[in-house]
Amino acid sequence: MTNRYEKLKAKKELGKKLRARNSSFLRKKSNEKPKANWSDFKLKDDKLLLCTKGIVAKVIRDKIKVLVNNEIINCKLPIEMPKTLVSNLVIGDKVFINKENEVVSRSDRKTHLSRLRSEGATYSNKHIIAVNIDYAVIVATVAEPEFNAGLIDRYLILCQNGNIKPIICLNKIDLSDKRHPILKLYKEKLGIDVIEVSVKENIGFDKLREKIQHKTIVLVGNSGVGKSSITNKLLKSDDIKTQFVSEKGQQGKHTTTSSDLYILNKDTYIIDTPGVRSLSLIGIDKQDLQFYFDDFVEFKTSCEYRDCLHSTEPDCAVRRAVESGEISKLRYESYLRILESIS
Ligand code: GDP
Ligand code: ZN
Repeated sequence: MTNRYEKLKAKKELGKKLRARNSSFLRKKSNEKPKANWSDFKLKDDKLLLCTKGIVAKVIRDKIKVLVNNEIINCKLPIEMPKTLVSNLVIGDKVFINKENEVVSRSDRKTHLSRLRSEGATYSNKHIIAVNIDYAVIVATVAEPEFNAGLIDRYLILCQNGNIKPIICLNKIDLSDKRHPILKLYKEKLGIDVIEVSVKENIGFDKLREKIQHKTIVLVGNSGVGKSSITNKLLKSDDIKTQFVSEKGQQGKHTTTSSDLYILNKDTYIIDTPGVRSLSLIGIDKQDLQFYFDDFVEFKTSCEYRDCLHSTEPDCAVRRAVESGEISKLRYESYLRILESIS
């Protein structure tokens, strides 16, 4: 067992080295400079002390809007820094700005909400939509539209992939007393909080507010489940100190097209971008699904078939790892469930 593991590890290392060599070779060939990275611009502690901390609220071309002490400030990069670094900033990024309102450093990201760019895209060119999110509030409904477990499973994958904690918010409980049996599994087997609410009858919002206190959240879910209604409800609460609503300045009114970062109260933020909203349209390809399961990676290269989906294929290394306990059974069951839900 150890031997096989060691061998795989060595194989992975070799692959990494070859890829690194290839890319430096290609760069030399095209005279291209290595791409600038924020990790090259880490500041020493004494320099950081002279800067102000902020959160990226919006990036439009070379303009960066940063939230500093509940105020949005227009920032840019210092002239001497590579312009390409701007494209490496997304909503939620924690940055340091100097007295000239220039972004001089970016903190490492704790979590990320990403999607695959397009069909056939690989894990490495995923598109990051927002970062440093604590909770993804997956909004579902008891009815109108019908409860959609397959969609929740897909969001759970995105959460796992980006290290974000999911909460399921079951809305419109005024419409029915029936509950889908899978909710019990989410709660009891996966340990996910399920919070029942009704915007219409003002039920459950104390609990939801308490849960998201001092956190950065995104609301995701099918269209029509009530994401806007819930956001509005949360924003209209008495404890709103400030809020940021797009440049159009529609104070207090939640609009889906241009708003980005809302402040509920100190340290509690709602991120809402068209990117996050359209996530419900994500189509994960059967073959791509396994890329979302980091814990499968080291095993799947030993499967008999190169295009193994790790379900019924013979001599599947992933299934063997599940049997030996190296991959969690729950994770594998979740994988199979999603695989089945993808047509
Ligand atoms: P979004 O597309 O997810 O942003 O959903 P909306 O917030 O636009 O809500 C879709 C529809 O559901 C609207 O007509 C809302 O009035 C309605 N709705 C939202 N919350 C509730 C609720 O708790 N109960 C009922 N019965 N309808 C609701
Ligand atoms: Zn397999």
